[in-house]
Amino acid sequence: MSQELKLHFLGTGTISPDPERSCSCVLLQTPKENILIDIGAGSLRRMAIEGIDVNSIHYIFVTHFHPDHVSDLIPFLFALHNARNEQGQLLRVWGPPGLFRFIQSMERAYGKWVQYSTDMVKFYEMKRRLLDFPGFRLIWNKVIHTQESVGLRFEVANHVVAFSGDSGYCQELIRLCKEADIAVLECSHADEFAVKGHLSPSLAAKIAEEAAVKKLILTHFYPDALNSNLLEIAQKYYSGEVVLASDGDSYSIPLD
Ligand SMILES: [Zn+2]
Ligand SMILES: [Zn+2]
Repeated sequence: MSQELKLHFLGTGTISPDPERSCSCVLLQTPKENILIDIGAGSLRRMAIEGIDVNSIHYIFVTHFHPDHVSDLIPFLFALHNARNEQGQLLRVWGPPGLFRFIQSMERAYGKWVQYSTDMVKFYEMKRRLLDFPGFRLIWNKVIHTQESVGLRFEVANHVVAFSGDSGYCQELIRLCKEADIAVLECSHADEFAVKGHLSPSLAAKIAEEAAVKKLILTHFYPDALNSNLLEIAQKYYSGEVVLASDGDSYSIPLD
């Protein structure tokens, strides 16, 4: 694999159906690992469109248990039964406390079709706030959305990519984003339709500015957000580069 950190957007929409956007899913590629951040409805089809094999995924990190962030875990696991090949390695699925209960409910509903031996699929609940993996460090924190919701900060060789998951404006998220090369922040609603527990362009931009991130990527758009001038509003509050993510977009950070 190349010496870069790569972000590949597989789902930039919400549970509001959109022919152009799947629900939340980003593939983060380090030189060693393929990591999915959330796996909402439509992610699996978008992976197929982008030529990403389910066998190539090493980790899935789930930020919370809303269907637009986790529901394609069910078809993903089912797909492994058919698609598993000799390249398939152990898949590790991480989530906030409550993941085990979620998985048990899924297994009660779908039985053997989503069940694997622990040398194929393992589940982990996040407990320690700082987790070291072979090729990256993960720092997570609770954010303001649902009771279990977490934001994620990935550190790879002095470079940082942070993800809000779903979250309102909060200091925890600003800390996770501190001086990140890229902050991927949700932007559910336009400012005039902002709701508690979600970000709008001005709130996401304020977080990016206060955290001094190098680049802000907005994602997770409800229709009212897409109908507003997100970039212009975000640029009023954030002095760095800001872009809107679309399904299929990718961004790279060279690793030194
Ligand atoms: Zn949510
Ligand atoms: Zn969501």
